[in-house]
Amino acid sequence: MTHENRSAFSGSVFRASLYASSRVISLPALLAAALLACAQDPYRALRERMVREQIASRDIKNPDVLRVMREVPRHLFIPESLRAQAYEDHPVPIGYGQTISQPYIVALMTQLLEPAKDHKALEIGTGSGYQAAVLARLVKHVYTIEIIPELARSAAARLKELGYLNVTVRHGDGYLGWPEEAPFDRIIVTAAPPELPQTLVDQLKPGGKLVAPVGRTVFGQELIVVDKTQDGKIRRRSVIPVMFVPMVPGKR
Ligand code: SAH
Repeated sequence: MTHENRSAFSGSVFRASLYASSRVISLPALLAAALLACAQDPYRALRERMVREQIASRDIKNPDVLRVMREVPRHLFIPESLRAQAYEDHPVPIGYGQTISQPYIVALMTQLLEPAKDHKALEIGTGSGYQAAVLARLVKHVYTIEIIPELARSAAARLKELGYLNVTVRHGDGYLGWPEEAPFDRIIVTAAPPELPQTLVDQLKPGGKLVAPVGRTVFGQELIVVDKTQDGKIRRRSVIPVMFVPMVPGKR
């Protein structure tokens, strides 16, 4: 069963129980339910605020992206000692010299990808697994590659525990892409290569889209969107300057 099916299932159960009790529901009962929801997830209010102040107030207008940013429990992708910073407007260290991107950047890259429910997506740089989780709620399946074995292992375990059954994590070198699963409708790169890797462009379907930070130095990166037309031509545009950890070459 995919994650998509699971949420559709729990969604219908939720609607059914609301309907059954709709004749007897009272204001105190509703308040109690709201309080219970907050007590169960004290981070919900922080997430709402993050979306309102850092994301919707900027240029993120895709309602599906806003919804998913409100839903995915970002704090669970961050080391416990730094959890208080989970919903702040900056990247947060996740160990091994790596970081989980700023919430706005995750939302922006997801919006630029224009994800759809029938898409097969590839992510390079699993890190904490957060971007993969966000994307997994908007596409059919996410294949994600991480070069640091410990991060690959912990992200896979976390995503499984949280019920993201439509994400597959692989420990490996993202420069090689995932030839067995190619071609992809969407590719997102979350570490910065010095230049656009041709292997990844080759693994993009005609009509596909790739979003990546590209640049030789930390201060010289730009976020780019690459479109592959139906006849295989490549169109590339630059969106904003960004600062990502470098995409390191794998061992050959
Ligand atoms: N998307 C992540 C954040 C990524 S940080 C999240 O949501 O948490 C960038 C990640 O890319 C790091 O974990 C880093 O180890 C990984 N990385 C760097 N070079 C890579 C390569 N060649 N192949 C795969 N992963 C790579």
